[in-house]
Amino acid sequence: NTKEATFVAKKHIDFTKIDINLLPTVMIVGRPNVGKSALFNRLIRRREALVYNTPDDHVTRDIREGLAKLGDLRFRVLDSAGLETEASSGSILSRTAGMTANVLTRSQFAIFLIDVRTGLHPLDKEVGKWLRRHAPGVNPIVAMNKSESLHYDTDSFAEGAMEAQILGFGEPIAISAETGLGMVALYEALRPMLEDYMVRVLDDNSSQDENFKPSSDCCKVDESKLPLQLAIVGRPNVGKSTILNTLLQEDRVLVGPEAGLTRDSVRAQFQYQGRTVYLVDTAGWLQRADRQKGPASLSVMQSRKNLMRAHVVALVLDAEEIAKARRSMTHAEVVIARRAVEEGRGLVVIVNKMDLLKGKRNSTLYKKVVEAVPQEIQMVMPQVTGIPVIFISAIEGRGRTAVMRQVIDTYDKWCLRLSTARLNRWLRKVMSRHSWKDQGAQTKIKYFTQVKARPPTFVAFLSGKTMLSDTYVKFLTKSLKEDFDLGGIPIRIMQRSVP
Ligand code: GDP
Ligand code: GDP
Repeated sequence: NTKEATFVAKKHIDFTKIDINLLPTVMIVGRPNVGKSALFNRLIRRREALVYNTPDDHVTRDIREGLAKLGDLRFRVLDSAGLETEASSGSILSRTAGMTANVLTRSQFAIFLIDVRTGLHPLDKEVGKWLRRHAPGVNPIVAMNKSESLHYDTDSFAEGAMEAQILGFGEPIAISAETGLGMVALYEALRPMLEDYMVRVLDDNSSQDENFKPSSDCCKVDESKLPLQLAIVGRPNVGKSTILNTLLQEDRVLVGPEAGLTRDSVRAQFQYQGRTVYLVDTAGWLQRADRQKGPASLSVMQSRKNLMRAHVVALVLDAEEIAKARRSMTHAEVVIARRAVEEGRGLVVIVNKMDLLKGKRNSTLYKKVVEAVPQEIQMVMPQVTGIPVIFISAIEGRGRTAVMRQVIDTYDKWCLRLSTARLNRWLRKVMSRHSWKDQGAQTKIKYFTQVKARPPTFVAFLSGKTMLSDTYVKFLTKSLKEDFDLGGIPIRIMQRSVP
């Protein structure tokens, strides 16, 4: 593999150019007060962090996730500061049992912080045990934090370093999260590990390039195995965060206090039936799109960029609002649905808060919503037939399966590849259904092939110079959607004339 050869030979990966989703994750671990949050903040600087808020023994534990920049290194970093409580109240091991799977499935690497001023603490050994038990594959970098205090005192420094080796994770590095001392050492320790990791990941993904080569038959890469990127969009208060939480199966997701300062997309990640799902954040997107002036336009651009990062866009509507209003979708909601489709994203509509119409289950209201929404969507977006609409009540926590089933179904269809043989069998059938003469067209499709997936894109090769009429293209699109069950998928058909 030539690609691999280049990477290995160069052994220099430009992390700044790598898709954030492919970047490795580094977890910061350590007992309370060693400076985990301080290091986390230094690594992400002023960028936003995503906070997972997990209830456990009625004590709040936060896990923050952010994009770390360390020189030219980029990685995702997790701060596990919320994992532990006061040292006095028992073993970290027992308290964090429920959390381990959650955090560890998200990380490939760890920075194990200790406090050089206090020396090794029994709890440090517990953290070490915890790591060995729950993350046997992770070989943490031990970092003696608060080392700036030892600047002129080399004896205690050497003592600390020797002591740290008792943990069994090799020689420690000396850092100071507060002053930035030792960041070069941290960089040098991380770089080779992250680089090795990236070489492996990029090699795994290199075959993806084949997507963009016109290929006449099914692609070898199983694209549905790649991480699914999902954006949940909608007006404020429709229940986006509530849905997010049912998906993550954690209690609350909050954007940190610096939200609004930085408007980067923030992400969370979870596993669903063996698949990795990334949540692309577009929070408040409609709120900003509704406003017209000032810096808002910038945010709209940003949100649009985030929308582009999504494979599937889930547009959330509020059932109670729909029941009250004359129309199912506001102008802004129509705009975003159309934009998602224009950008080639798969679209799913979620009507949330159905519980508010319960009790009146047989009433006209409930029925009106269930019937009106799909119809109206079809009316405002005639170009995309069969957009899936699901009705849930996120607050009851039961929407997860319904949402994920639809999202995955849409994603798989978005990734669909049809062989040229199959398409041309299909085309013959379609042509027999629909006479050319009806269209008054002189053109004839010689053959039909899929050039690309994600979203499915087709080329009709025509004999003669006359292009297909719009009506005929619409007819072909509609037939493709119906025959291959591609509701909610933006399909593209291009035309080429062959001499
Ligand atoms: P965590 O509980 O591990 O997240 O620890 P924090 O980040 O909250 O830090 C605990 C305390 O140590 C705070 O008072 C920090 O200001 C302090 N601290 C963190 N890093 C350093 C450092 O490098 N040097 C010194 N002197 N203090 C630090
Ligand atoms: P966001 O602004 O779109 O993120 O909306 P939130 O998730 O913060 O929800 C807004 C409000 O709607 C909160 O008070 C939620 O408790 C409530 N809510 C969310 N989902 C449901 C639901 O399924 N049923 C009901 N009755 N209320 C809900």
